[in-house]
Amino acid sequence: MALIVHKYGGTSMGSTERIAQVAKRVAKWARAGHKMVVVPSAMSGETNRLLGLAKELAPGKPTADYLREQDMLAATGEQASSALLAIALQAEGQPAVSYAGWQVPIRTSNAYTKARIDSIDDKKVRADLDAGKVVIITGFQGVDEGGNITTLGRGGSDTSAVAVAAALKADEALIFTDVDGVYTTDPRIVPEARRLSTISFEEMLEMASLGSKVLQIRSVEFAGKYKVPMRVLSSFTPWDIDLTEEAKSGTLITFEEDEQMEQAVVSGIAFNRDEAKISVLGVPDKPGIAYQILGAVADANVEVDVIIQNISQGGKTDFSFTVNHNDFAKTLDLLRDKVVPALGAAEVVGDPRICKVSIVGIGMRSHVGVAAKMFRVLSEEGINIQMISTSEIKSSVVIDEKYMELAVKALRRAFDLDRPAAA
Ligand code: ADP
Ligand code: ASP
Ligand code: MG
Repeated sequence: MALIVHKYGGTSMGSTERIAQVAKRVAKWARAGHKMVVVPSAMSGETNRLLGLAKELAPGKPTADYLREQDMLAATGEQASSALLAIALQAEGQPAVSYAGWQVPIRTSNAYTKARIDSIDDKKVRADLDAGKVVIITGFQGVDEGGNITTLGRGGSDTSAVAVAAALKADEALIFTDVDGVYTTDPRIVPEARRLSTISFEEMLEMASLGSKVLQIRSVEFAGKYKVPMRVLSSFTPWDIDLTEEAKSGTLITFEEDEQMEQAVVSGIAFNRDEAKISVLGVPDKPGIAYQILGAVADANVEVDVIIQNISQGGKTDFSFTVNHNDFAKTLDLLRDKVVPALGAAEVVGDPRICKVSIVGIGMRSHVGVAAKMFRVLSEEGINIQMISTSEIKSSVVIDEKYMELAVKALRRAFDLDRPAAA
C-alpha cells in the first residue's frame, strides 16, 4: 500500500463525463489499497474565462487591489472542479472530501498571481486518509499570512501536486494530462516527436524552463529539491486499464544519471515564442554598463533571459537581451526615458518577432561539439543566429520567429529525435 498523489489537468477535468472518468480511475487506485490524494486543475477554459471577465470590467493596467481580486476569482475554478470530483467519487461509492488551498492550509507568499508555497499542513489530510477517504486538494492556490487567497501562476496545479506529494512524503506524484508522456518536443506541434520513457530531472528542468509547458517549472524544482518520484502520463487511456501497467506508463522523471548513460546526447528540443529582444545601441564602453542597464530592468521587476554584449568599436558597444513579451513595452519605455539618457547611449530598439530554440541533454556534458553541430545545422538552413546562450546541458539560440519550424525540423533530424518510421 502506498501514498499516491494524482494530478489531473484542465482537459482531463474538462466535462462532467471526463470528471466521472477521473473518479473511476481514482477509485480503482483506492480499491487497490492505496491512500489517494488528488489535485485537480480547473475545467479546461475556465481560468481563461474568469480572467477574461475581470479584464472586461477593468481593462487597464492591473493595480495591486485588482490582483488580489483576480486571485480570489481565478481560485474558484479549482474549487469547482475539486468539489465536482468529490461528488463523482462519492457517487462511485468511494468516500471523498475536497479542500480549497486555504482549508488545508497551503501557505504561500503574498505575491498575487505568482505566489510561492511556503508550507503545507498535513494533519487534516492524514486524518482523512486514515479514515479511508480520498482527499482532493485544489491545485493552483494557497493562502497568505493575511488570509488572502493567492494563486501560483499559470499551470500551477503541477506545482501544487508535487508540493503536496513532498509534504506528505508520498511514494509518487502521477501527473495525468492530455498526452501520454514527455516527448522529444511538443507532440502537438511536431507529430513525429518521440515519447521518452525516462527523462532526467535536470533535463526536465531545462525543458520546462526553456518553454516546454508540459510541466510548470516550479513543479520540477520541487520534485528535485524533495526527491519526489514523478511521472507524466495520460488520463485518456480507458480508466480500467490494468493498474500495474498504468503505474509503469508515461515518462518517469529520474534522479539517477546512470540510467541515462545509454541515451542520446540530446534528449529534447524546446522552443519558446514568448520572448522579445531589446538592444541598447551605441553605449559608451566602460565598466558598469551591464549593471546600469540590467539593474534598472531588475528594479522594474522584469526578468531577463538571454544577454549579449557586442565587441566595442570606437569605444561604443551594443547591448542586447530578451524579456517576456508581457514586459516588452514597459522595458522599452523605461530604457528610453531613463537609462539611455543617463548612459549617453545612442538609442534603444526592440524586436518582438523572435523565438528561442534549445537543445537539451545531459549527454552534452560528456560530448564535445554538440553546440557546434547545432550551429552548423542552422547555418546549412540559412538561419541567422542572433543570440546564443549555453549551459552544461543545453544550448539555446535566438532566431527570427519565421524560422522556428524550419530550425526545429532540421535539429530533430540532425539529433535523431523523431519516432522511428512505422515498418
Ligand atoms: P494540463 O492541462 O494537463 O496541465 P498542459 O496543457 O499544461 O496540460 O500540458 C500538456 C501539453 O504540453 C500537451 O498537450 C503538449 O501540447 C504540451 N507539451 C509541450 N512540450 C511538450 C513535450 N516535450 N512533451 C509533451 N507535451 C508537451
Ligand atoms: N487552472 C490554472 C491554469 O489554467 C492552473 C493549472 O491548470 O495548472 O493556469
Ligand atoms: Mg499544465
